[in-house]
Amino acid sequence: MDQIDYGKDDADMALPLQEEFLNRGIALSQKSLQRTEEPDEDENGNRFCLDCGQEIPPARVQILDAVRCTHCASRKERIARLYAGGVVKTSYDEYD
Ligand SMILES: [Zn+2]
Repeated sequence: MDQIDYGKDDADMALPLQEEFLNRGIALSQKSLQRTEEPDEDENGNRFCLDCGQEIPPARVQILDAVRCTHCASRKERIARLYAGGVVKTSYDEYD
């Protein structure tokens, strides 16, 4: 990241940076939800969803350090949001 040349056209730089920030934000929020959970991984580095056992796409593992498939992760996130909103009290409260 030390190669950014601010003399270049801003339009060229804006999109990739925006995407990177977005990806980091997603990764951070996912990690904060999953930080206490050990991934279910085989000896080849393939990961399997902790909830349904489906194989998690490698790209998802690489970017998000995911321990769940998209379906189960979004379901869990919805539940966590309810908890964070004070509907239900859990240990997620401390990460707000
Ligand atoms: Zn799943």
